[in-house]
Amino acid sequence: MSKVLLATTNAKKLVELQRILDAALGAGRVELTSLTDVPDYPDVPETGLSFGENALLKAREGARRTGLPTIADDSGLAVDALNGMPGVLSARWSGRHGDDRANLQLVLAQLADVPDEQLGASFVCAAALVLPSGREHLVDGRQPGRLIRSPRGAGGFGYDPIFVGDGTSSTNAELSPEEKDRVSHRGIALRALAKVLAKELPTLPS
Ligand code: IMP
Repeated sequence: MSKVLLATTNAKKLVELQRILDAALGAGRVELTSLTDVPDYPDVPETGLSFGENALLKAREGARRTGLPTIADDSGLAVDALNGMPGVLSARWSGRHGDDRANLQLVLAQLADVPDEQLGASFVCAAALVLPSGREHLVDGRQPGRLIRSPRGAGGFGYDPIFVGDGTSSTNAELSPEEKDRVSHRGIALRALAKVLAKELPTLPS
């Protein structure tokens, strides 16, 4: 079984990716570990100007510090009428990192004068795999949709209560975790990365 680092401290992301890898590669092929298992791991500032840059930055740092094949992702909301913002600033749009409610309210306030038919938006995710050899892979996933002005639903996180994906009338916060995985930017990107990892597995130490 190959050990792979997921460069996050988020336990939910670890469970999500392990589930996706097990489905794509078969259970027992890859053992994921996270930054909570790496002592004295410093906070890596996300200074990239794109999701891809940030994902690579985090994956490179993980591979450099641990010598393990490392996966990292970066994601956010891109609003058409805001020229793709909040983008890489999605988690700290209101100025307070991780204040989901304030971030969502600020985006809605900024869109107050934008007509309903111009509320197109996408969730975007970049996922990187960096190998101990230095080889790098980068994939992305996108969920297109539109924003609504009144939040709905209790599931998900972040901007999910104001995002309705194409082909549905439910917000992402009204989907079950499995339904969201099937259509989400992160689900799409991580399944693509699982395929890349499957090709690299024979080259990795077990
Ligand atoms: P991260 O890539 O997990 O750091 O996500 C950055 C930010 O983007 C989060 O704090 C959320 O504000 C937003 N975001 C990313 N993915 C989602 C999602 O699936 N639903 C809602 N918001 C998201």
